[in-house]
Amino acid sequence: MSTFKAPKGTYDLLPPDSARYLAVREAIAAPLRGSGYGYIETPGFESVELFARGVGESTDIVTKEMYAFETKGGDRLALRPEGTASVLRAALEANLHKAGNLPVKLWYSGSYYRYERPQKGRYRHFSQVGAEAIGAEDPALDAELIILADQAYRSLGLRNFRILLNSLGDKECRPVYRAALQDFLRGLDLDEDTLRRAEINPLRVLDDKRESVQKQLTGAPLLRDHLCDACKAYHEEVRELVTAAGVVFEDDPRLVRGLDYYTRTTFEFVHDGLGSQSAVGGGGRYDGLSEMIGGPALPSVGWALGVDRTVLALEAEGVELGLPAATSVFAVPLGDEARRVLFAKVTELRKNGVAADFAYGGKGLKAAMKAANRSGARYALILGERDIEEGVIQLKDLESGEQTAVGVNEVVAELESRLG
Ligand code: ATP
Ligand code: MG
Repeated sequence: MSTFKAPKGTYDLLPPDSARYLAVREAIAAPLRGSGYGYIETPGFESVELFARGVGESTDIVTKEMYAFETKGGDRLALRPEGTASVLRAALEANLHKAGNLPVKLWYSGSYYRYERPQKGRYRHFSQVGAEAIGAEDPALDAELIILADQAYRSLGLRNFRILLNSLGDKECRPVYRAALQDFLRGLDLDEDTLRRAEINPLRVLDDKRESVQKQLTGAPLLRDHLCDACKAYHEEVRELVTAAGVVFEDDPRLVRGLDYYTRTTFEFVHDGLGSQSAVGGGGRYDGLSEMIGGPALPSVGWALGVDRTVLALEAEGVELGLPAATSVFAVPLGDEARRVLFAKVTELRKNGVAADFAYGGKGLKAAMKAANRSGARYALILGERDIEEGVIQLKDLESGEQTAVGVNEVVAELESRLG
């Protein structure tokens, strides 16, 4: 133990568990790579103002959860709390939307930071993989993203997740609904904070987690009943395309995102084995966001999936990922000459793409064989003085225990053929 511990609300990813995190990231990325999404990486921090505008001045993320700081040069920056605003900022800055090929489809993977109350599934440093399709209004694009997230979760073996789907309307029909909801909320018995929220951002009141509030919301007007014809038709097409792909979802008329630039399609992935941190991912359309950060009108849709919670969901379902062993061959030298010979063999195996490791630190046979077994390697190469004299290396199958002497110059080819 050192004097230091990981900061509150953070944890370290260590082997062997860390392999599962990498596998989850990779499984979410794979369907995106295969669907025309290009990889984007943006800085870990941005101007505070980008998030204030791009996430929303009145959101918890901006008012309570942001790691904001002033640099020595006097710039106001914040560690990124989410990915969408940065990705859109970068796409606009590079004029990707002017290259004449819309939508611009991008995916990302990285660390995000929110000053939250730490609990299981809720951390101050966490990891997301996300996708954004910028500059097109097409229900097939919304459907594509929902289908790809479903595919990602299924490829991992996850089963007990649900997809919740709703439409938030657009700038035609949402204001009418907003006014109707406000009328309704004004008649309820709500505390002062919540009443104030009802004036600034009434849709967010629907998202209130307190039971005392939820009880009163039973008869609240629903957006579903206020959608304009264009929004209805759009939503119906998204639903049909997702259904036709064999992806099951639930209509959730209460699923909301509070901000005005979120439009139409909105969805969330929830897992029932995670307790109160049940959202494993979420997303939707954000047709107004580009203009909010000073860009042109660019209707867009995206999602972000939480890697940490996806790993917890896999644990909750007892899914084993069946990851291949990191090492295939482990070399056990007995003596100085054997070290030189086997080290060269390990280097050659690695060059040929065979994952190989070596008993370092001058271990004796027993400790070295223990290390070989621990490495998960299928084969051990053992070399003693007598073997050197005879020009062979002992090749031991660590699964069957069977051992054969193979000529020093044949051993690499023999291993390659055995490992397929
Ligand atoms: P919640 O309602 O649980 O706070 P959110 O709406 O803030 O979630 P998003 O901003 O939509 O979450 O982020 C997408 C995903 O990122 C979430 O579904 C979740 O899996 C993950 N996520 C968000 N915040 C955290 C966190 N503090 N710790 C771990 N994962 C997180
Ligand atoms: Mg949150």
